[in-house]
Amino acid sequence: MNLDVSKAFVRPMEDFPFEVEVCVEPQDINGDQVTFDPVHMNGVFSMIDDVVTLEGELHTVAYAPCALCMETASAPVDVEFRETFRKDADEEEDGCFRYDNKLLPLNHMTLTLLLLNMPMRFQCDHDCTGGAGLTAWDEEKTVWAEQENGEQQGTYRPFEGLADLLENNEENPQ
Ligand SMILES: [Zn+2]
Repeated sequence: MNLDVSKAFVRPMEDFPFEVEVCVEPQDINGDQVTFDPVHMNGVFSMIDDVVTLEGELHTVAYAPCALCMETASAPVDVEFRETFRKDADEEEDGCFRYDNKLLPLNHMTLTLLLLNMPMRFQCDHDCTGGAGLTAWDEEKTVWAEQENGEQQGTYRPFEGLADLLENNEENPQ
């Protein structure tokens, strides 16, 4: 996807609105396949001294396996950005993107913004526990039998906390 910014060369220092959609290839991030809805961007571009500035917002939805149950999870990605493009820039060294022939190649910039704004991890929903076999350990609610009385070593009694709770309620009626 190339954005034609030739208007800014005719009238420098003026803001021109733009609105584009960029398709991004699936990415392998830490071993997970991450896919993206078409990336919608809008904002303004302008040019001063051969430097083109692109400023606006980016919106898409990213999809990746849930960190707990591996079902597909989604996360919105919304980014405000302000990026500069120089003719013949060295993208690694100059910290800005390059343009050619009054066209801004947007794919590299889009991918860079997405990768910098990925969620730390994907989760299918707030209550996902990863299924019955992989319940998250919750120290508040669980008690190991051996810590209580030395009997039944290693036996996990999930309702012990609940029993304590009920007992307390009986001792302290409202
Ligand atoms: Zn899940």
